[in-house]
Amino acid sequence: MGLPGLSFVVLTQATTPIIPGRTRMRDRNLERILAQIDGRGYVSYRQLAGTHRIGAFRLAIDHIQIDPYAPPSRMRVILDRETAGFPGELTCDDAGRIAVSDFMTRRFHQAARRIVPQQSGTGNSGVVSIGHPGQEVLERTSVLIAPDRVEARIEVGLPARGRQIRGREAARLLTELLPRIAEASLIHANLDQRALDEHVVLLRDQEHLRRSLPGHGLVAFVGDGAILPRLSGDSDLPLKTSDAVPFTAPETLRVRFDLPSGRTVSGMGIAEGITVIVGGGYHGKSTLLRAIERGVYPHIGGDGREWVITRPDAVTVRAEDGRAVTDVDISPFITNLPSGSDTRSFTTTNASGSTSQAANLVEALEAGASTLLIDEDTSATNFMIRDARMRALIPADKEPITPFVDRIRPLFVEQGASTILVAGGSGAFFDVADHVIALDHYRPRDVTAQAHDLAAGPGKTPPGAVFSASSSRILTRSSLHPPGKRKPAKAQGRAGIRYGEATIDLASVPQLVDLAQTQAIAHAMDRLADLLDDQMSLPEAVTALEQRIDAEGLDWLSPHRGHPGQLARPRRHEIQAAVNRYRDLRLARKR
Ligand code: ADP
Ligand code: MG
Repeated sequence: MGLPGLSFVVLTQATTPIIPGRTRMRDRNLERILAQIDGRGYVSYRQLAGTHRIGAFRLAIDHIQIDPYAPPSRMRVILDRETAGFPGELTCDDAGRIAVSDFMTRRFHQAARRIVPQQSGTGNSGVVSIGHPGQEVLERTSVLIAPDRVEARIEVGLPARGRQIRGREAARLLTELLPRIAEASLIHANLDQRALDEHVVLLRDQEHLRRSLPGHGLVAFVGDGAILPRLSGDSDLPLKTSDAVPFTAPETLRVRFDLPSGRTVSGMGIAEGITVIVGGGYHGKSTLLRAIERGVYPHIGGDGREWVITRPDAVTVRAEDGRAVTDVDISPFITNLPSGSDTRSFTTTNASGSTSQAANLVEALEAGASTLLIDEDTSATNFMIRDARMRALIPADKEPITPFVDRIRPLFVEQGASTILVAGGSGAFFDVADHVIALDHYRPRDVTAQAHDLAAGPGKTPPGAVFSASSSRILTRSSLHPPGKRKPAKAQGRAGIRYGEATIDLASVPQLVDLAQTQAIAHAMDRLADLLDDQMSLPEAVTALEQRIDAEGLDWLSPHRGHPGQLARPRRHEIQAAVNRYRDLRLARKR
């Protein structure tokens, strides 16, 4: 079922499932309507709109698809908190609620696959879906845990043959199968409680560790025993343990954490400042950095990266040639372009490798990144370094680029931004690194001392500050109003957003990990457009948006009442990344 370590649980429960008092009593009204409209045209399904009682559950049918091929109908299965029976201890904090909701979502998904027979009929007939969480545990709209109720937000393809309603099948789906799925996944007594408790404890421990990092002067932690490599380039599942070399921290970098559950974890601490990861090709450098990049999110038990924990505001910065850039101050890296354009407010519809990477970096800082994650594999070489011969051949005044190696130290000193960098091909960063970690057959060694022996000594510190306080980029009311835009913005797969006539390309935003996050960002852009008052900078606008989400829940992002759609909470960094990649973005400046 694609979720190792979790999939066995539902079937192994020994106790008899609890069936709430009247669950089996069906809703006569729903069944009567379905009997009446059996065989009629698909539009007659509209009569189902509203809330129906099915035993202990309520079924709210919020949106009915227009035909069998359209996206399935949106419904909510609602259960009183008392009947659901989740102890308050499990859901008394954010981490607990997110973990329980995530657990119920995964169980609902599994139960639906088990209980709903092979789909038959036209189009989406018979589909029952709640979304499909991956290896990360994200705050989602799929299961709401409120003080008075729990609610599963699902999509159901109402059955048809051609465009004719199959009423009997719909009745069986809604009044027999759906309650069975809900019983198996939404009622505490029917769940594997040990697995649920472990899920909650794991998330609480992970979040505690994440919160502890700054106090220990760390930006990331990679636990001993972690399995970092993935099954394949297109799978996020762990490589089989027999094929993977588990992570072991170098003695000199090992740290230990005592966690709230009583568990102690040990592993490699990556300190604030500049850390360079070196090693031969294919020795696991990018794999380590990618795990750290994903470590901004918690992971499910059995993933292998449960104890790879990164500060929540670490941002991957890569080259992305071809992207549009609007009014970004890239002058710390690039000045005197041959075109004569002012790099203090750089705008282009087609950035080069180096200008795109400079813009990505400056935008990451604007979004509040504490830590930058950079891999040579996805960087522009001329952005990163320039060697002595090239410096001799091309005089500085003919070279617009000041390479990252000359800016990495000021970034930390002036801006407080740490960097974790993979650089297997150049020793240039030894001069500026606080720590150098070598990977040898996937095993890390602390080679800081040797690297410093080889270094040319710290480079000349440039006089004065490099990152002068630049003016804020202001979103005006017209910034986010694409001409001719009538429909709400919409995700197009994980890596794209349809925004008016424009498409926003997010393929180079690797910490956007779930389609449901992309959909949430699409809604967030529409919400931002409503919030703007011609005074707010982009970060201020996103802060206002986040405060509303904190106060009113993730549902608030949705334009729909009732069922909010399948949304997962994005970070502010990815919201800003999407705004920044909108090709018709227009900004003002506050000097
Ligand atoms: P590099 O960036 O150093 O060239 P990669 O991180 O791309 O190397 O890793 C090369 C290969 O080794 C990949 O196929 C990856 O899945 C595999 N790999 C990485 N780490 C491990 C590990 N700890 N155990 C087994 N295989 C690994
Ligand atoms: Mg690599």
